[in-house]
This record gives sequence, C-alpha cells and structure tokens, in this order.
Amino acid sequence: MAYIINDECISCGACEAECPVSAISEGDGKYTIDADTCIECGACADVCPVGAPNAE
Ligand code: SF4
Ligand code: SF4
Repeated sequence: MAYIINDECISCGACEAECPVSAISEGDGKYTIDADTCIECGACADVCPVGAPNAE
C-alpha cells in the first residue's frame, strides 16, 4: 500500500517538500507518489489544501 494523489491535485507543490523519503514528484497535470518509495507517513495528506493524497 502507498498513498495516491487523486485528480483533485492543483499542483501546488506543498506535499513534495514535506515527504521524508522524497517519494513525490511533479507529474503531468498533477503530482504523483512513487508507490515503492512511500512509507505511508501521511505528511502529504496533512499538508495538502485539497485532500488529494489518500491511502489506498
Ligand atoms: Fe511521502 Fe509520507 Fe506522502 Fe508517502 S505518505 S508520499 S512517504 S509524505
Ligand atoms: Fe497536489 Fe495536494 Fe501535493 Fe499540492 S499538496 S501538489 S494539491 S497533492
């Protein structure tokens, strides 16, 4: 399991700086999480203004 960023993402970039394992990167139209790197800490979900990152 890993966190997934849904289509609500507005590409603000706030989550990328908060991820302790640098699993988040800017993708095409939204940010994305590398499932193999994510440790499910939830920091991205806490900082996201639109609730885009969610646990699977
Ligand atoms: Fe990074 Fe934690 Fe979000 Fe996974 S849940 S992408 S480790 S901030
Ligand atoms: Fe997208 Fe939320 Fe990350 Fe901003 S904090 S880039 S809206 S997932």
